[in-house]
Amino acid sequence: MLAPRPTMDCVAVRLTRPSGRRVLRIFPVVLLQVTLACGLRPSEPATKSFTSMGTRASVTVSREYRDRLPRVTEEVSRIFRDIEGLLSTYQADSEISIVARSAGGPPVAVSPDTFEVLELSKRYGQLTGGAFDVTVAPLVRLWGFGAPPPANPPEPKQIADKLKLVDFRRIELASETVHLPAGMSIDLGGIGKGFAVDRAFEAVCRTGSIAAVLDLGGNMRVSGQAEAGRNWIIGVRNPFEKEHLVGRIALPDGMAVATSGNYERFVELGDRRYSHIIDPRTGYPVEGMAGVTVVSPTATEADAFSTGLFVLGVQAGPKVLEQAPGTEAIFIPDRDPIELWVTPGMRNLFTPDPEFKASVRILSVKHAG
Ligand code: AMP
Ligand code: MG
Repeated sequence: MLAPRPTMDCVAVRLTRPSGRRVLRIFPVVLLQVTLACGLRPSEPATKSFTSMGTRASVTVSREYRDRLPRVTEEVSRIFRDIEGLLSTYQADSEISIVARSAGGPPVAVSPDTFEVLELSKRYGQLTGGAFDVTVAPLVRLWGFGAPPPANPPEPKQIADKLKLVDFRRIELASETVHLPAGMSIDLGGIGKGFAVDRAFEAVCRTGSIAAVLDLGGNMRVSGQAEAGRNWIIGVRNPFEKEHLVGRIALPDGMAVATSGNYERFVELGDRRYSHIIDPRTGYPVEGMAGVTVVSPTATEADAFSTGLFVLGVQAGPKVLEQAPGTEAIFIPDRDPIELWVTPGMRNLFTPDPEFKASVRILSVKHAG
């Protein structure tokens, strides 16, 4: 089922989707200075990559901070590992796994970081009207993510039963403890990486001024500029053709970017492909969106909103952003020919790739006040 055509104010634009097969496991945003610097002159930014939280991570610093790269990377990777140890659903002894095992029992004491990410999860649940909901975990597993995939899509009755366990409002937070009702569990896959990037960003900035980009699986936050007078440039890939960019975002100092895409992770059940982002209101994987890229003041917010806006789509999504000044988005519906819908403030940050000769449809977002 495709999303209905949006009706917001727009200036017409259409991008031609390049021919070829859809590419299905790619990193949706990419730091361009590094890509361009593959010939690596010593004056270019320097990058160190590593694996964290089951995905690719990296730290990039501008040329004047090259000497600090090893130390900074060590610190960032340690912070990512520590946060993963608290929030992972794949680690039986993580605080989030313990909270899930204790569901229905007495409240569980958790660290300030876990408490904060849960507070933020509830906040983004509220702001997105439940489109972002970290208690979607039982449905995520039912559809075969983080659990063996079923041979066929789940039955409506199974989905209805799991839906009863989904409601972020029922996560009870009080004085550094968490309580979950029986049967419920939490999946921070849609916010945890952004949270880890923010924690690392704060730590790195505390140690002195630096120009750097922290990246955890496409959740990025930048400090300073790539070089004097030139912001860090992040390429947004075409969700339908990984070799092509739809455009570039010039990310101001301190800002973050994240992308959610239907091509990043999926399962094939029967003869169909299902996205890893579940609509918590219906219990079914989201259809109709190919990708949503969000720029926000924090990586946590960019991560949560990209997942939530992916669920809401190009019609309902912009309304939510009226409550989030400073957050801008690009929506790419899953249809041919490819279309880009951007919030008004994104026009100052985003330049469409000239290869597509594209201009962009502008969404209407009216900020309160
Ligand atoms: P992201 O790639 O940041 O959009 O996060 C997607 C991940 O978040 C999925 O793999 C699930 O672990 C989890 N998730 C799926 N649907 C939702 C949802 N509606 N709200 C919050 N988290 C979700
Ligand atoms: Mg997310």
